Amino acid sequence: MRVSVDLNVCQGHGVCYMTTPEIFEPREEDGQAHVVISGELPREHEDAAVLAQQSCPERAITVE
Ligand code: SF4
Repeated sequence: MRVSVDLNVCQGHGVCYMTTPEIFEPREEDGQAHVVISGELPREHEDAAVLAQQSCPERAITVE
């Protein structure tokens, strides 16, 4: 499972990095979300990634 954020859609509300800081962090310059785990997501973070995807108000997060 991999996680990505579409920066053309992300508005930097911060729901993802406030609730799931183990996967997302804000970029200093604009507050948009950055995925801190590169490559394959560890299995223990998979449920949190799906929840973040469902919670993003802009639907900017892709989990595949
Ligand atoms: S919740 Fe969605 S819109 Fe908000 S910072 Fe995270 S990815 Fe961006």
